[in-house]
Amino acid sequence: MLRIAYADYEALRAHGEETYPNECCGVLLGKNIAGEGNHVQQIVRAGNTRTDSAHNRYNIAPQELVKIQRQARGPGLDIVGFYHSHPDHPAQWSKTDFAEAHWLGCSYIITSVEQGKAVTTNSFLLLGTGEDDKKFEDEAIQIDIAHNAAEAAAYNQKGQA
Ligand SMILES: [Zn+2]
Repeated sequence: MLRIAYADYEALRAHGEETYPNECCGVLLGKNIAGEGNHVQQIVRAGNTRTDSAHNRYNIAPQELVKIQRQARGPGLDIVGFYHSHPDHPAQWSKTDFAEAHWLGCSYIITSVEQGKAVTTNSFLLLGTGEDDKKFEDEAIQIDIAHNAAEAAAYNQKGQA
């Protein structure tokens, strides 16, 4: 199961609306918790470096990925996944998405954006031990109201006031 805070979930969906009719993409930072799955703590927007067909392809430049990875290490986070949008296409992975997915154990989020509005958001977990036996598995998304207990308490307090 993928856990993500409501604010991050909304932000990655909004990113897809902003870049429409092109794809957006970004990185999910957080922790992989044994027995629980990937827990997103932060999302980082990435530039779509593909200019040839940005509406149906996405790519994150290697230098940009290295930079994001370095930033994550500060607060002790790891790359736990990636997200991108499918303008006017279903929120299902494509052959290209599968071919270009190499991060085993990572969550790949896809949001369908229809006529500029984010519709469906799905997550797929990349399983396997390598390129030969890798596969995508449907992954449930659990949306938390906040990133941590302190944030949730503040949110609940505000709600009662
Ligand atoms: Zn795709």
